[in-house]
Amino acid sequence: MAPGGGGVFKEGVDLSYPNKSVNYDISIIKTDKSSSSTKSNKISHDKHGMSSSLNGVHELLQCPSCKNSMYPPIHQCPNGHTLCVNCKNRAHNTCPTCHFDLGDIRCLALEKVAESLELPCRFQSLGCHDIFPYYSKLKHEQSCRFRPYNCPYAGSECTLTGDIPALVTHLKDDHKVDMHDGCTFNHRYVKSNPHEVENATWMLTVFNCYGRQFCLHFEAFQIGMAPVYMAFLRFMGEDSEARKYSYTLEVGGYGRKLTWQGVPRSIRDSHKKVRDSQDGLVIPRGLALFFSGGDGSELKLRVTGRIWRELSM
Ligand SMILES: [Zn+2]
Ligand SMILES: [Zn+2]
Ligand SMILES: [Zn+2]
Ligand SMILES: [Zn+2]
Repeated sequence: MAPGGGGVFKEGVDLSYPNKSVNYDISIIKTDKSSSSTKSNKISHDKHGMSSSLNGVHELLQCPSCKNSMYPPIHQCPNGHTLCVNCKNRAHNTCPTCHFDLGDIRCLALEKVAESLELPCRFQSLGCHDIFPYYSKLKHEQSCRFRPYNCPYAGSECTLTGDIPALVTHLKDDHKVDMHDGCTFNHRYVKSNPHEVENATWMLTVFNCYGRQFCLHFEAFQIGMAPVYMAFLRFMGEDSEARKYSYTLEVGGYGRKLTWQGVPRSIRDSHKKVRDSQDGLVIPRGLALFFSGGDGSELKLRVTGRIWRELSM
């Protein structure tokens, strides 16, 4: 499928990323105590010899074998060729560069040099302006709030990632998802042959409410042997913001109804994770068919709901 507009990032949230295309702005700390009180002296890429030698340092920290950034323990062969711990474990005691026996030699000098580096978060272009010591950068990036979100669409292997506006456009254009404005909803889910329920039966609707977007998932699956329908809401944003909202879902008919009140889950939590935790309105199939009326050959469920912002937060 075609990716959406600008700001969409095709790379997955693969945390063992290679650094190939990333152009780091390298600065150094702890090197010059006599210089001004600033914690980091940012050095731009220019014709200064200093800058190019820092680029050289960064190249040194790239594993010659797999090109990933190296983190301690950094190893080297008796001839001085460095390699990362993953490559060392794969190398069967033979240096990938010169094919000598590797032995078990740490490259402490390079580990120390790495310690002195500060690098910007790799999501700088997405709005994160933090600078990190080499060794804590990776950890930060795993939870950086500017890291791209995964596409919230379920039921396909969509690997697209991006920021929220890009994902909204993508859902609309590429997944043809229904978009609704407003914080209340009244939806009818109709399906013939409800007894042929497969795990792949699902639906997604997006609501614009308080200027934010909420994903209403509706789907059929099995809990153990029991076929159920489930509806739940996910928030297109961080968990800390998701918790500022609440929602209700209601389904019923013939004088009976089921009501669910919950807190939307951030799309940082995968669709499957939320579904498997049953954090939503779960309707046993028998009851769903009762609500549908008729002879049980067609599912006709009316799900109503409301989203509101909690005032106390
Ligand atoms: Zn390597
Ligand atoms: Zn070697
Ligand atoms: Zn960051
Ligand atoms: Zn998608």
